[in-house]
Amino acid sequence: MNRSIDDLVEKARDSGLDLFVEDDKLVVQGLKSAKVFALQLIDRKPEVVEFLDDERRHFHDWSSVPLEASVPCSKCGSFMPWWDVYGYAHCPTCDPPLYSAPDLREKAGRLRDSADGST
Ligand SMILES: [Zn+2]
Repeated sequence: MNRSIDDLVEKARDSGLDLFVEDDKLVVQGLKSAKVFALQLIDRKPEVVEFLDDERRHFHDWSSVPLEASVPCSKCGSFMPWWDVYGYAHCPTCDPPLYSAPDLREKAGRLRDSADGST
């Protein structure tokens, strides 16, 4: 069976592998227990490198987001904003994030568990 590259990369990352492209070379780091995925990645190296390059291009460029908090909240005067993924500032008191990091971590864990159970 030939699984899709994004599926293979996701499974490899789930199993603890760290993969990135350095000087046009595919670098795979991780535990020996994930060796089966490492070998599959290396087998399909050109596709994996292309996928990782593509993925990196789609990442938001955080360097373009102005992170200096210069404008206080118009309601409470707080100078400590939180930033959404689109780069907009919000007041944690008047406009708190919908999910906290621990909430998201727990949700991600549950998704991972249910995905593992189905394979
Ligand atoms: Zn506020």
